[in-house]
Amino acid sequence: MPIYEYQCETCNKKFEFLVRGSDRPICPACAGEKVRRLMSRCGFISKGSGGETVRASAGTSSCTGCSSSSCAGCGSS
Ligand SMILES: [Zn+2]
Repeated sequence: MPIYEYQCETCNKKFEFLVRGSDRPICPACAGEKVRRLMSRCGFISKGSGGETVRASAGTSSCTGCSSSSCAGCGSS
């Protein structure tokens, strides 16, 4: 199940939310529903020199939030 990072537009609180089905994230601080999803840290990491994109190929998705196998933001280490 993917965990996304959200930021509340009301109080700017950042929080992580486990998305299940049609659940909608609600700010844990102010219970506001105006939240926007932040770009995960996943995907930013592996931009190698030369513009090569590293992709997880063998279906070993250690990271549920992105398709990168070497993602420091997903606690694979
Ligand atoms: Zn809030």
